[in-house]
Amino acid sequence: MSFKLAIVGRPNVGKSTLFNRLVGKRLALVDDQPGVTRDLREGEARLGDLRFTVIDTAGLEEATDDSLQGRMRQLTERAVGMADACLFVIDARAGVLSADEIFADILRRKSARVILAANKAEGQAADAGVMEAYSLGLGEPLRLSAEHGEGMAELYAVLAPLIEASEAAEDAEAAPEVDVDVDEDGQTAAAHTPTPQRPLQIAVVGRPNAGKSTLVNAILGEDRLLTGPEAGITRDAISLRLDWNGTPVRIFDTAGMRKKAKVQDKVEKLSVADGLRAVKFAEVVVVLLDAQIPFEQQDLRIADLAEREGRAVVIAVNKWDLETDRQGKLRELKEEFARLLPQLKGAPLVTVSAKTGRGLDRLREAVLGAHDVWNRRISTARLNRWLAAMLEMHPPPAPGGRRIRLRYATQVKTRPPGFVVMCSAPEKLPESYRRYLVNGLRESFDMPGTPIRLTFRSQA
Ligand code: GDP
Ligand code: GDP
Repeated sequence: MSFKLAIVGRPNVGKSTLFNRLVGKRLALVDDQPGVTRDLREGEARLGDLRFTVIDTAGLEEATDDSLQGRMRQLTERAVGMADACLFVIDARAGVLSADEIFADILRRKSARVILAANKAEGQAADAGVMEAYSLGLGEPLRLSAEHGEGMAELYAVLAPLIEASEAAEDAEAAPEVDVDVDEDGQTAAAHTPTPQRPLQIAVVGRPNAGKSTLVNAILGEDRLLTGPEAGITRDAISLRLDWNGTPVRIFDTAGMRKKAKVQDKVEKLSVADGLRAVKFAEVVVVLLDAQIPFEQQDLRIADLAEREGRAVVIAVNKWDLETDRQGKLRELKEEFARLLPQLKGAPLVTVSAKTGRGLDRLREAVLGAHDVWNRRISTARLNRWLAAMLEMHPPPAPGGRRIRLRYATQVKTRPPGFVVMCSAPEKLPESYRRYLVNGLRESFDMPGTPIRLTFRSQA
C-alpha cells in the first residue's frame, strides 16, 4: 500500500498546479474505481526518490451553488479519511481567509498529520501571507511555489521521514509512529523539525570532470553504505544513503546522470540541468571545483543558484594533490571566492583530493557544520535583545525628520534562517541598513555562509 497524501484547501490556492507538478504525466485517473468519487483525483507522485499517491480535491470552483461549503467540507473529510497525511494549501499572496480557517478546523479534528503549505510564495510579496499562516496553529508553514517548482526540497524533507516511517510500520505490521516535535510556542511543528532518522540531503555538483564521481566513490570507499543505489531514482540521479559517524546522510550523485547523457551526446545541456535538479533536492550543496580551473562561469552559476534557492553551500576545491604552491593557491582561491561570490560570504571552502582521499574528513565536517547553521533557530527573546543593541549602536535613519522605527524581530523560518522585522516605514529603510542587520545576525548568532533572509514588514 502506497503512502497517500491528500492535497486540500479552498479553491484557487494552487492544488491542481501542485498535483500536476508532483504527478506530471503519470496521472492515473481512478475516478471510476469504487470508493473514489468523481471529485477526487489520484495520481502517482514522484519527488526525488519518493513514490507516493496524491489525492487531489480540486475542481470545486466549478460548483457555484449554495452547497459549496458543505461539499467542500464533505470532499475534504473524505480525502482526509483516505490519506496518511494532508498537505493543507493556502495562498500566501491572498493571506489567510475565513475559508482557510474552516479547513484548518476540519484538519485539526480529522487528520492524523497536517503539513501546512503557503503556496504562491515566490518572491517577497508573499512574506506577509507566510507569516499569517502561523496563525492557523498548524505549525511552521512550508513555503511553496507550485508554479515555479520552489520548495520541493523542503516538501521532500518533510515527507521522506513520514513515508519511511509508514513503510517501516507496514513492514513491522504496526501502527506508524513518528516523532512530533513541539516548538517554542508549544505548537506542533508539522513534521517540520528534523527527526533523528531523517537523512541529511547532500548534492555534489560541479562542471564535468571536476571529479564528482571520483569524490562520491571515495566517500563510498570510506563510509558505511546503508543501502545500495536506490532503484527507481536512476533516471534522475543516484542517491546513496550513508552513515557519517552516526549522522545518516543521503548523497545525490549527479555524475551518474552525466555518464548517461554522454551517450546521448548532450553532455553540457544535461549536466547543467541535473545540477539544477540536485540543488532543488539538497539541503547542503557541495560545489566541487577543479583547482586547476576554479570559479568558471558554470561554477559561479550553480553556486549562485544554490544560494538563491536558500541552500547551505560548501565550496570544495578538488585535485589538490596536483598543487605545488598550496599556500599561495589557497590565498588566491579565497580572494577569488570573496570577489566572485560575495553572496556566499563565510561559506566554508575546503580543499580535497578525491583521488587520494585527503581532506574528506574536513569536507564531512564542513557539510555537517553548514547544515547545522542552516537549521539554527534563535529564540524571540534573544533576537529582540540583539535588535535593541543593534538599534542603539546604529539607529536607523530619520528621513524627513521622522525616525524609522524597528519594533520587533522574529524568526519565521529555518533552512535557511529567515527573519521578519516589524518596521514603521519599510520602503524608506535603506538597503545598507538591511545589510547591517544581516551581517549583525551572522556575527552575533554565528551563522557564517548560510543564506539569511531578512524582510521588513509594516504593522497593519
Ligand atoms: P486549485 O483550485 O487549488 O486547484 O488551484 P489551481 O491549481 O487551479 O491554481 C489556481 C491559480 O493559481 C492558477 O491560475 C494557477 O496558475 C495559480 N498558481 C498556482 N500555483 C501558483 C504559484 O506557485 N504561484 C503563483 N503566482 N500562482 C500560482
Ligand atoms: P566528474 O565528471 O565530475 O564526475 O569527474 P570524474 O570523477 O569523472 O573525474 C574527472 C577526471 O579527474 C578523472 O580523470 C579523474 O581521475 C580526475 N580526478 C578526479 N579527482 C581527482 C583528484 O583529486 N586529483 C586528480 N589528480 N585527479 C582527479
